[in-house]
Parts: sequence; C-alpha cells; structure tokens
Amino acid sequence: MNRSYKTKAIIIKQYEVGEADRIVVVFSREFGRLVLKARGVRKILAKLKGHLELLAYTQLEIHQGRSLDTIIGAEAQSLFKKIRQNLRSTSRLYLVLEFLNKILPEGEPHPEIFDRLLYLLENLDKKESRERRIVVITYFCLQVLRELGYYPHFRECLKCQKDIESGGNFFDFLGAGIVCRDCGGEEALMPVSDQAVIFLRFLIENNNIFLPEIKVLPKVSVEAYSLVERYLETTIDSELKSKKFVKLVD
Ligand SMILES: [Zn+2]
Repeated sequence: MNRSYKTKAIIIKQYEVGEADRIVVVFSREFGRLVLKARGVRKILAKLKGHLELLAYTQLEIHQGRSLDTIIGAEAQSLFKKIRQNLRSTSRLYLVLEFLNKILPEGEPHPEIFDRLLYLLENLDKKESRERRIVVITYFCLQVLRELGYYPHFRECLKCQKDIESGGNFFDFLGAGIVCRDCGGEEALMPVSDQAVIFLRFLIENNNIFLPEIKVLPKVSVEAYSLVERYLETTIDSELKSKKFVKLVD
C-alpha cells in the first residue's frame, strides 16, 4: 500500500544520482534521519530545489515508495539566509551536518538533538561573533555526543580513576576521556590545557538548550573545539571531509 506523509525536516545532505535524480538526506523531529529521493523530472525538481538546499528547514510531503520514499512537495520554513552569507558559519555547519549524517541511525527519532540543531541554526542566523560561533558549535557537538552515548569524561582519570588535578593532563580519544599526567606520559595522547578542561566540563555538564554568554579566551575555545572535532572523527571512525573547507575559510 502506498501513501503519503508530511514532516518538517532539516536538509543534512544531498547529491545527484544517475541522470538527474537527487538523494536528499533529512533530519526530522518525528522520524529522525531519512534518506529520500527527489525525482529528476525537471519541472518538479526545479520547483523543489530551492527548498531542498543544505541547512534549509523545510516542510516536506513524502510519498512512501518500495525502496526509497520520494519527496513530492517541499516548502522551506527557513533558509537561514544570514548563515549562508557567512562562509565561516556555513563551513562549520557543513561539518556538523556531515557528522550528523554519519552518526544518526536511519529512522530513529532524536527530538532533543533536532531541537538543538534548529536552535543552533536560528542562533547562528543572527549576528554572532566568531568566538561565540565556535563556542555554540562546540556546545552543540558535545550535547549530541552526550545524547547518543558518547559522553567524554573530564573529571576523573580514565586509567586510575583519581580526580584530575591541574597541569599536564591528556585526552584519550579512544577511551573517551581525560588521563592524568601520571598515567598518560608514555602513550601518544593529546595534551590538554587546564583551561580547556574546565571549559569542556562546563559545556558537557550544562545541558540546557540555551547556553549563556560565557567569557572564554579564544585560544581556549579553539583548543576545546579542535579536541571535540577530533573526537567526533573518532566516534564515526573516519575523517570529516568538511574539515578542509573549515580550515580554508577560517
Ligand atoms: Zn591517572
């Protein structure tokens, strides 16, 4: 039995297949990540195209198919135009979308992550400083990791379980946590500064959707972001391609 359904979703990936068809991967609040098809009929695709751009928040009408469901209607609720005008914002968000596309299981709803993503996009669509953008994106990524069970630990040493003291600590990406200076010396772990540890603790332990303005030195937020970015890659077991784009424009 074939039927149609509607849902609002954020476009997280799209690419052409075959002659003119398009695969559109979306993240919806109700159904989670969905892999959909947009038919290559020119007239239809031309009409839908503007509503199916990456990052767009779109009302979709979908026809259930035998293999892939097909998009038969799309109306953008928000295209986040200000974000698009800023290459630095777009590049970091593309990285976030690439990560979400890899980490979110198909057809599994994660309304909390959806709400956070929509909130992040709405926030970055306003005028935000570069520093604040890095902070809110780092915060978003950490909260997604927490929600999906990849909580990185920043309080006790992974190896000896002792409380972390200041100075000379490391981060163990495979172990998903911090390692004290006594336990971490011999392995090739990443050194992490005390300020970054404090900042990362604050971000992971405060799980409200809204993140208040916080004072943090840019070098600390950049260190924290880099650590989180590398940890994202560990969780998906591959490199994030958008990383190069971020480096290029940042
Ligand atoms: Zn230790």
